[in-house]
Amino acid sequence: MPSSQPAIICVAITGSLPRKSDNPAVPVSIEEQVESTHAAFEAGASICHAHVRNYDETPSSDPDLFARLKDGLEKHCPGMIIQFSTGGRSGAGRARGGMLPLAPDMASLSVGSNNFPTRVYENPPDLVSWLAGEMRNYGVKPEIEAFDLSHILQAKAMVDRGELVSPPYIQFVMGVKNAMPADRDVFDYYVHTVKRLFGDIPWCAAGIGRHQIELNAWAAEAGGHLRTGLEDNIRLDRNTLAPSNAALVARAVDMCHAHERPVATAMQARQILGLKEAA
Ligand SMILES: [Zn+2]
Repeated sequence: MPSSQPAIICVAITGSLPRKSDNPAVPVSIEEQVESTHAAFEAGASICHAHVRNYDETPSSDPDLFARLKDGLEKHCPGMIIQFSTGGRSGAGRARGGMLPLAPDMASLSVGSNNFPTRVYENPPDLVSWLAGEMRNYGVKPEIEAFDLSHILQAKAMVDRGELVSPPYIQFVMGVKNAMPADRDVFDYYVHTVKRLFGDIPWCAAGIGRHQIELNAWAAEAGGHLRTGLEDNIRLDRNTLAPSNAALVARAVDMCHAHERPVATAMQARQILGLKEAA
């Protein structure tokens, strides 16, 4: 279904996997993360999805690092929506939600388990319920990461139980090795299922690796919102490393324009997602 609704671009700046040895543009220190996000914000991103790292580039869930990042982003990217990952350290239990008392605008929430390239991505029901409860307590809007069709239906069950505020914001994630491939028929069925369960609500999509641009195109065309960034993909094409997060955002902006979608400002994104205006 064509749409002329403004498209929100989320930039996933760092993630838990890519290292500087994979692409030197991956921002690791807080200072690098703020600088990289600022350029991405200027290029058109209105959500920053962030993980934090230790000095040795390993993933961290240290709330102090998240707090420093939040301060830097609020100062240098005024109005940008800050979304912290609660998914980056599978197996770490409740430490994954230790930053939620900082009350970022949003946080990612995985509501079921699946396989990742080399391991199980563990999201046991009691941990999912606890993370959702912390998000309600601190007024953090979850972004439901749907790695599988069952995760969309689980979001509906959680809304019905009062564990998620309605409507949820759901992101389809496709192209993770050993999880759901980037499959257009499945994507269309995801869109159909969200509409059937929740009505005409905003949703977004992320593709991993070479599927990033493909999912950007599908989402732009189908009226969804887009995710890009070095967390999901470190290349512009087969032979070219992306020089920055901003370069990937610029590519997503071009994709929006190709589908006659204006790019949402941070203020428009806040309205679309029902978030309060930035402090
Ligand atoms: Zn992430």
